[in-house]
Amino acid sequence: MEAPKLQNVVGRAKSIPILAWRGLSQLLWPAVCDNCANDICETDNNLCTTCWDQLITCTAGDYCPRCGRDASRYGLVAGACAACQAEEFHFDGIARAGVYHDALQQMILAFKHDRSELASVLAPLADAALQGSRFHRDIDLFVPVPLHWTRRLLRGYNQARLIARQLSHPRARISTDLVRIRRTQAQPVVATPAARAKNVAGAFTVRADHRFAGQTVCLVDDIKTSGATLNECAKTLKEAGATRVYALVLAVAGQRTL
Ligand SMILES: [Zn+2]
Ligand SMILES: [Zn+2]
Repeated sequence: MEAPKLQNVVGRAKSIPILAWRGLSQLLWPAVCDNCANDICETDNNLCTTCWDQLITCTAGDYCPRCGRDASRYGLVAGACAACQAEEFHFDGIARAGVYHDALQQMILAFKHDRSELASVLAPLADAALQGSRFHRDIDLFVPVPLHWTRRLLRGYNQARLIARQLSHPRARISTDLVRIRRTQAQPVVATPAARAKNVAGAFTVRADHRFAGQTVCLVDDIKTSGATLNECAKTLKEAGATRVYALVLAVAGQRTL
């Protein structure tokens, strides 16, 4: 009976410096929201209530499993919403964490510029979307949409790969055998869907020793706008022998048909 009591005393004694350190660090470096930098409590899970509310709103609601735009599941015809009925995709379906708006948009922009630590908030959102997708169990390989090596060098990381590394799956692994061989303009600068498609045409290839043949692949990216980049990646992967290609993104922009 003495041992547990002693353990409790030792445990409490050990926790005193930790609590003191937490109190001191809160005083010296008060916790701030990861998105808007407003003051928060240590227990607020990195974001203030306004940003959490915005994030929850951005990630709520049904979407089209073919193009990722907002859509009621009851409004789908043959698995496609009205906006994408006439569109052709090389990818076979998509899962999204939310819409490109408010706090989610601000965090993605910060994440892809220099704040790689935001992966700890954003990746769980992508993972939840993946777990809820109809293709989750079929995936053999996760393929982060690659950056051109010059952009990767300047940024220091590929944001899509940081997300892919935190996805949970019983067997799928990450492949980096899809590569970008041509620098392209940032897609939002290019206006029309046709121009966006032309901007990325031929921009990707696979490494000589790739293992995409017969595999079900899930592309991972931060934003889908027109879908031109995902489409070109999916086309390249299917030419390399992938059986099916799905996409997982943090956010879908361009909710209207362009
Ligand atoms: Zn905030
Ligand atoms: Zn659709």
